[in-house]
Amino acid sequence: MSKPDFKCGHPRSPENVKQFGILTGCATCYEKRRETRRALAQESRARLAEMMMRARKDGLSTAQIAERFGVSLPTVYRYAPEDAPAFTKDPTFTERAIKAAANAIRIEPADLISPLRTPRLVRARWAVMMAMRNRGVSLPRIGRRFGRDHSTVIYGIQQAELELARSETFRDLFQRVNAA
Ligand SMILES: [Zn+2]
Repeated sequence: MSKPDFKCGHPRSPENVKQFGILTGCATCYEKRRETRRALAQESRARLAEMMMRARKDGLSTAQIAERFGVSLPTVYRYAPEDAPAFTKDPTFTERAIKAAANAIRIEPADLISPLRTPRLVRARWAVMMAMRNRGVSLPRIGRRFGRDHSTVIYGIQQAELELARSETFRDLFQRVNAA
């Protein structure tokens, strides 16, 4: 006696049974649903990227785009990269930027790498992180240079964007670091 077919009409043959824990279901239908979900996800991803690029062209900053679309900064960087100094790999830039930031606020470069968290120093650190990110240095790499995790780097870059928008002092600092 053969078992009845699945409700969808597909056969309950051994090769068409998908095990879900203790339950079983139709493997053909499961695959179809998975494909549809995948297609939908890709479709909306493409649309999201397109909308982000449009926002970028409208002059929105990375932080603003992230907020508008409810996504993280790395997602914005991935789908709508800013046309930063063309993501060139410049291996000595980081050290020059750290030195420039330290000089700008009259501290030792090592202080920027240290756990010290005085406001002036923290801002200088954000400026260096932002300048590194603009040159295409990855978040984990930036984190490693400062002995911090990548979520701290994301936060730092977000703060740098806000400071750029509201503080003349920070803009001056950032320009010095970015031109290092
Ligand atoms: Zn089926």
